[in-house]
Amino acid sequence: MDSFDYGSPRMRVRFGPGRRGEVGDVTEGLGIARALVLSTPGHAGLAGEIAGLLGPRTGARFAGARMHTPIEVTEAAMAVVARERVDGLVAVGGGSTIGLAKAIALRTGLPQVAIPTTYAGSEMTDILGETEGGAKTTRRSEAVRPEAVIYDVELTRSLPPGLSATSGLNAIAHAAEALYARDGNPVIALMAEEGVRALAAALPAIVADPGDMAARGGALYGAWLCGLCLGAVSMALHHKLAHVLGGSFDLPHAETHAALLPHAVAYNAPAAPEAMARLARALGGGDAAAALFDLAGRLGAPRALRDIGMPENGLNRAVEAAVANPYWNPRPLEAGALGALLADAWAGRPPRA
Ligand code: NAD
Repeated sequence: MDSFDYGSPRMRVRFGPGRRGEVGDVTEGLGIARALVLSTPGHAGLAGEIAGLLGPRTGARFAGARMHTPIEVTEAAMAVVARERVDGLVAVGGGSTIGLAKAIALRTGLPQVAIPTTYAGSEMTDILGETEGGAKTTRRSEAVRPEAVIYDVELTRSLPPGLSATSGLNAIAHAAEALYARDGNPVIALMAEEGVRALAAALPAIVADPGDMAARGGALYGAWLCGLCLGAVSMALHHKLAHVLGGSFDLPHAETHAALLPHAVAYNAPAAPEAMARLARALGGGDAAAALFDLAGRLGAPRALRDIGMPENGLNRAVEAAVANPYWNPRPLEAGALGALLADAWAGRPPRA
């Protein structure tokens, strides 16, 4: 066995149906007496339920979270933090709402409770992406990782099948890249393989019956493990491409991950045989990249970037951006091969062997 480093963050996780009911207990454990409850406008009703469960521990509510954590939204929420003298944050929603809580925590040091409703995994990470003047920047800081997370499967029941599929594939992408991460380790590899296995088993059942709560539980468990991987080790080509495409062409987050993943995995396959063996095992055998392409197809997830708004004349610019700031990847970045990868992903062709 090679040498490795391992560290685990101080986080508390409560997992299970109905456990949002324990939000008062969780906030009390963190010493929060006046929580700011955060959500998107669409989840204002759910945020109201959480505020009701918090009772007198609710200091204020802010239902203005938006995709990509725009700085102006953070500033509006910061005004509420100051005015209402809140001493903690409770975020209920997907990556957009959890991103807002992280942005506030970075500026204030306030403790956070995250109650995720998608499979994106942001609640487990020390990563914050923020948008200012149309440009998205990402940083890693322990200051943004939530202190506590409540995974309540009942809150994922309303996630539509299409969004469940793409959000689940987004989660699988974290685990896939964790398997070949430069700073990977055997514990994270176990979590990654188990996370992919759980999601690959659950997502087809959810698409067939969105009310299948056993499958919903399996998917949320898998998403937790995949989020742990994202928060523990460095990502590579796939996440870089998804960031470039999302930022430069305003493509939807989870769908972009879904369409790119089989191709990024195929690109890295020759340089990461052990990771591919684990990934293939988790997906039920065969070739890992082909199995991911097949899974996306069975789930009805987008497999072509052209179907989610990517202009064909932007492919060269995307390749240039992807190689502009070199970063570690198991296989060296070659502009020609990346161009072929993106052309395949754009057209929805199967990944290259
Ligand atoms: P999101 O929070 O924007 O949610 C996507 C859509 O799903 C929204 O319209 C939302 O209202 C809806 N939704 C959420 N939960 C629902 C539910 N249970 N039922 C019905 N509808 C529901 O997006 P996301 O995919 O969760 O996260 C994407 C964002 O998070 C991106 O900005 C991405 O960059 C960020 N992200 C950050 C990290 C990190 O570690 N920092 C990790 C993953 C994603």
